[in-house]
Amino acid sequence: TLPKIAWIGLGIMGSPMSENLIKAGYQVTGFTLEQEKLDRLAAAGGTAAGSLAEAVRDADVIVTMVPASPQVEAISYGPDGILENARKGALLIDMSSITPQTSVDLATAARDKGIRVLDAPVSGGEAGAVEAVLSIMVGGEQADFEQARPVFEALGKTIVRCGPHGSGQTVKAANQLIVAVNIQACAEAVVFLEKSGVDLEAALDVLNGGLAGSTVLTRKKDNFLGRDFKPGFRIDLHHKDMGIVTDAARNVGAALPVGAVVAQLVASLRAQGDGGLDHSALLRAVERLSGA
Ligand code: NAD
Repeated sequence: TLPKIAWIGLGIMGSPMSENLIKAGYQVTGFTLEQEKLDRLAAAGGTAAGSLAEAVRDADVIVTMVPASPQVEAISYGPDGILENARKGALLIDMSSITPQTSVDLATAARDKGIRVLDAPVSGGEAGAVEAVLSIMVGGEQADFEQARPVFEALGKTIVRCGPHGSGQTVKAANQLIVAVNIQACAEAVVFLEKSGVDLEAALDVLNGGLAGSTVLTRKKDNFLGRDFKPGFRIDLHHKDMGIVTDAARNVGAALPVGAVVAQLVASLRAQGDGGLDHSALLRAVERLSGA
């Protein structure tokens, strides 16, 4: 029989991901802060729990997908948290993007309670979550990774164990650096092309066929063309991730000169009230700098 799943955090990513587990035949009990998301889970065939403790009590596997390190700590620790209320032997898979150190500390604290932990952040965005083609980067013990593999296979396509606890998060931090710099480069190209009077759609199509082509350029093309910045992936979350990669790189003495500049541009969008927009809104930052 399939393991019983508890799913904590039913947002842009967590809702479609948990629904993919239900489609794969898993029994899923969920908890999140918005009632409408709990209703959505129940309508999809899951069970809405009345509390975090109730959601995790009988679970074999607990998946968490919340915004950032403070939320992972809030749901994990304390009398009402996962570590106090999950059963011994449960496997806790945190798929949120958080600091590598938070993942390492969580694994250590959980070990004392007989709970095993994997960090398993993802890339692929909302579309990747809906279509179950996420890239999943995993840190933790090999045996736990093997146990979790069928769950991962219901959620994603590229599933790789990167090393010990925290290493999934380190790889995800690199992912966020590459994505932000790539969006920034595309946004600069878009403003440059428009100001030059070239047909933008034709330009992006031919660029995508060459070495400049990328998943970012393909997936964000319509956002750029239509100035459609509905998230997707919020600037607020990318700001969090640029902080994670900047700190982690400083800790190991790796230079991120271009990443540091893009981190500042992401922060500037947030400061101007655009934190709730999709990260393709870096285009706005370039437009402002260009006087557009
Ligand atoms: P979101 O804000 O849409 O969803 C977060 C969910 O967490 C919400 O449903 C909220 O109710 C829940 N939550 C927060 N605190 C909680 C608590 N104390 N108890 C229970 N539930 C709580 O965020 P998202 O876009 O789904 O992102 C989730 C994580 O995945 C983030 O770490 C993000 O960086 C990462 N991520 C997002 C994307 C994307 O494209 N959106 C892609 C890859 C990774």
